[in-house]
Amino acid sequence: MPASALTHLECPECRRKFNAARVQNTCEACRSPLLARYDLEKIARQVRREDVSARPRGLWRWAELLPVRREKFRLTLGEGDTPLLPAVRLGQALGLAQLFIKDETTNPTGSFKARGLCVAVARALELGLREFVVPTAGNAGGALAFYAARGGAKAHVFMPKDAPRANQEEVRLSGADLVLVDGLISDAARLAAETAKGKRWFDVSTFREPYRCEGKKTMGLELAEAFGWELPDVIIYPTGGGTGLVGMWKAFEELEALGWIGSKRPRMVSVQSEGCAPVVRAFQSGAERTEAWVNAETIAAGLQVPNAFADRLILRALRESGGTAVAVPDEEILSARDDLARTEGLLACPEGAATLAALRHLRANGWVRENETVVLFNTGAGLKYI
Ligand SMILES: *Cc1c(COP(=O)(O)O)cnc(C)c1O
Ligand SMILES: [Zn+2]
Repeated sequence: MPASALTHLECPECRRKFNAARVQNTCEACRSPLLARYDLEKIARQVRREDVSARPRGLWRWAELLPVRREKFRLTLGEGDTPLLPAVRLGQALGLAQLFIKDETTNPTGSFKARGLCVAVARALELGLREFVVPTAGNAGGALAFYAARGGAKAHVFMPKDAPRANQEEVRLSGADLVLVDGLISDAARLAAETAKGKRWFDVSTFREPYRCEGKKTMGLELAEAFGWELPDVIIYPTGGGTGLVGMWKAFEELEALGWIGSKRPRMVSVQSEGCAPVVRAFQSGAERTEAWVNAETIAAGLQVPNAFADRLILRALRESGGTAVAVPDEEILSARDDLARTEGLLACPEGAATLAALRHLRANGWVRENETVVLFNTGAGLKYI
């Protein structure tokens, strides 16, 4: 079995290094998220990209670039290796010859949150943790609950009471402890932190531990492979906490260091709802950090995140890639969802539909050109929102 090449954790702000064999949350010095680092030279010497492509399907075929050392801790419910669907009819309507949808619907619990929580829970179990807590807009709670169940661990999930019913029910069914909160994910986070005080609950909130990002990184690895180790021109991603965006950007850096891809990068686009767009506002104003969005409200639950803890990493990825950030109104999200269903046969979640709404704007103003290869992310199953 392939071995993890994890070496240490690193703070991307102050560059301090941390021992990855111990449980870590954020940087002790500057409170930034921590990133996992690997012995990439060793991987480059020992493994070829063709070897990884030949392995059985699933996220763990990238084991060298993931943090879990012992195979018995590599939990699985069948996550990863989601389809990359050509969207020919929609592409024609938009004047694009190369339009694709990375469809994360087929992940366990119906969203890409499975990738992150799979790896985070697996690594935490390997480090001896047995009880977890998460504040969530919905899907992260479901994913945590099921991976905890799979791993024989206990989960405590704090969720806004207006989160999608499917999310509440799945958490209950998994046997996890569900606390409904009157407010937003930020309020759920406060209550979770208070309740967890003095208890040995491990907090797997977005970027409060280093390994959800590693799980979501596999979306970038899969895209590189699917395009024959040449990345597309534009990736459009619905951004809440930004785990996937930051994860994919990190994946590309690692793949280049391995010599598996060249230096060409996609332009990364963050999409948010006009009802909650802190990343878009910070991007447009040239700021390095986001400011908490007041009165956040959108039908796209996963985008109802007033403040992204990894704001600097998100904004850096957008800017370094030559990307942009777009806010779309909820009405456009809903009509994009209908178009995806009718034109491509895909029942997208509102967050995923938002990427199509954004693409419409970026085609109308010429930011995306007709000869470019574009990937939209449908981050979850539309069924969960019905
Ligand atoms: C959480 C979530 C998002 C936002 O993902 P981040 O990586 O946290 O930015 C988008 N879509 C869906 C369906 C989600 O559950
Ligand atoms: Zn630091």
